[in-house]
Amino acid sequence: MTLPGSPFLAYRGPDLFLDEVRLSDLVRQHGSPLYVYSRRAMLAALAPYQHALSGRAHLVCYAVKANSNLAVLQTFAQAGCGFDIVSSGELARVLAAGGDPSKVIFSGVGKTRAEMREAIEAGVRCFNVESTAEMEVLSEVAASLQSKARVSLRVNPDVDAGTHPYISTGLKGNKFGIAHELAVETYRRAATLPGIEVVGIDCHIGSQITEVSPYLDALDRVLDLVEAIEAAGVPIHHMDLGGGLGITYTDETPPTADELIGRLLERIDARGHGQRELVFEPGRSLVGNAGVLLTEVLFLKPGEQKSFCVVDAGMNDLMRPALYEAYMGIVNTHQGDTTAQVWDVVGPVCESGDWLGRDRALAVQAGDVLAVLSAGAYGMTMASNYNTRGRAAELMVDGHQVWVIRERETVTDLFKLEHRLPA
Ligand SMILES: *Cc1c(COP(=O)(O)O)cnc(C)c1O
Repeated sequence: MTLPGSPFLAYRGPDLFLDEVRLSDLVRQHGSPLYVYSRRAMLAALAPYQHALSGRAHLVCYAVKANSNLAVLQTFAQAGCGFDIVSSGELARVLAAGGDPSKVIFSGVGKTRAEMREAIEAGVRCFNVESTAEMEVLSEVAASLQSKARVSLRVNPDVDAGTHPYISTGLKGNKFGIAHELAVETYRRAATLPGIEVVGIDCHIGSQITEVSPYLDALDRVLDLVEAIEAAGVPIHHMDLGGGLGITYTDETPPTADELIGRLLERIDARGHGQRELVFEPGRSLVGNAGVLLTEVLFLKPGEQKSFCVVDAGMNDLMRPALYEAYMGIVNTHQGDTTAQVWDVVGPVCESGDWLGRDRALAVQAGDVLAVLSAGAYGMTMASNYNTRGRAAELMVDGHQVWVIRERETVTDLFKLEHRLPA
């Protein structure tokens, strides 16, 4: 049986392995539900980015929000990555994981003054600024620290990334970025502000993008702007082309990172911008197919219209299906001799939106361990405690090695910050 996504995930005989580890064994030892990531798979996903950009001034900034476990950040820090963060919480994680603040880019549409201050004090490389109002506040904060904030403006190129509306960010109606028409004027203003030093330009058009063409369209719009901004007397050092490269969840065929970057470099060179430093902010494409969510089958509930396979992981553990109606592959970690039937795989949470997969042909029995595939990105980072459910444990594997990188939350963890009213 072929599985989408990762060459590190494969059946050996009847059992599913991630790297050199039999997945069903992990649930026996560490309980369920359980996130498991492969360090080798993450590094293998990073390699084509680094390879395609070698010989050029560049920085690959891993987008922390895709999977922010300290061990994941440490893995990318040791591989030379910078980080794309969207909060001071993510900054603290990067620093705790040994990341280099001078390789950190601070994105996001709603930074607070306190977050700006912390980031300036930590010495981040650049703020991706998303509005004039934010830029004015950032200038004030930096000036009050006798400092200057290095800034890229995130421009909104108004291109359709062809992805789900909730993860499309480069269209006019989105809350993100500065409108194309206002960009030159905003750069002129930036150059006059006492606490701002302009260093680059940034765009990020969406997530789970499976074609090259929206990137090329956005690149052309950004290059037009770079030329106009420099003609207006404001030099632009680096170009940040964002993240967003899609992965294979089922039958998508996104370009590889080499392919995408190769096509972008061709266009950049053809337009005479080959000397410019390039920044990318990939998240999902570095971690998505490096992880699975393991979950035990509690009960089978056959019915006339629908048959339900009730598992012990729910929308609180993995929100993508409930939030985006996202398709995620689901397979049994042990192929027995039961025959396949069609099931809706659902969790225990009291919501009809609590499903992980619909109409899936699965040979399954109570007690089996299922693997939800491609769960390394936007899985654990979106998990909640809804229904007072502790979040899953996380493991990292590398070869035969297995490390617990986050322990399972206990119920007392969940209410330890709460207080009863006085008697
Ligand atoms: C979410 C995000 C990314 C990463 O997107 P992926 O689709 O996971 O690659 C990069 N940059 C910014 C600004 C983001 O918000």
